[in-house]
Amino acid sequence: KKSSLTEVKIAVLGAPGVGKSALTVRFLTKRYIGEYDHQAETRYKHEVMVDGEPILFENDEEMPLTDVYNWADALVLVFAITDRRSFNYVRRVKQTMLDNFEMPVALVANKADMVHLRQVSTEEGEILAKDFECCFTEVAAAEQVGQVAEVFLEVCREVLSVRRKNK
Ligand code: GDP
Repeated sequence: KKSSLTEVKIAVLGAPGVGKSALTVRFLTKRYIGEYDHQAETRYKHEVMVDGEPILFENDEEMPLTDVYNWADALVLVFAITDRRSFNYVRRVKQTMLDNFEMPVALVANKADMVHLRQVSTEEGEILAKDFECCFTEVAAAEQVGQVAEVFLEVCREVLSVRRKNK
């Protein structure tokens, strides 16, 4: 018998090459137990335990911004510390959609291992996160496992807590 799962849909947004796939796969390879949608290879579904509750986690990396509105429960906005333009991209996403739409957001600075090529300071990330009213984490998908998973799990928790309040 199949138990009914709580679904949490998280859109991972950011400029090309910032590491959206790398982050998602980092999360999946640690936790993957569900299905994989082969028709749209940028969409993943898997089950995770969040604070003892099974959650069906859906993730889409390549969805057009206009569709994200209707689909996502939460956003993970990703830029790379080595790419100033990717930082500006994330700022634009915020301006075009979040100003008139509220959902839990996590701001992630990826490629933190490439400090020698850094173009965006930690402080700039923190200031932007304050503007977004969201959390901020610097990670290296290439190296860290736990910290990447924690970003996704934290966003899941926020979605669940908002839902409980609205019940
Ligand atoms: P996407 O286009 O945003 O999905 O980016 P990808 O996940 O395809 O990553 C783009 C490139 O950046 C690939 O060559 C990755 O190996 C590399 N990359 C991703 N994350 C990291 C990281 O944390 N550190 C380093 N050094 N490279 C990374």
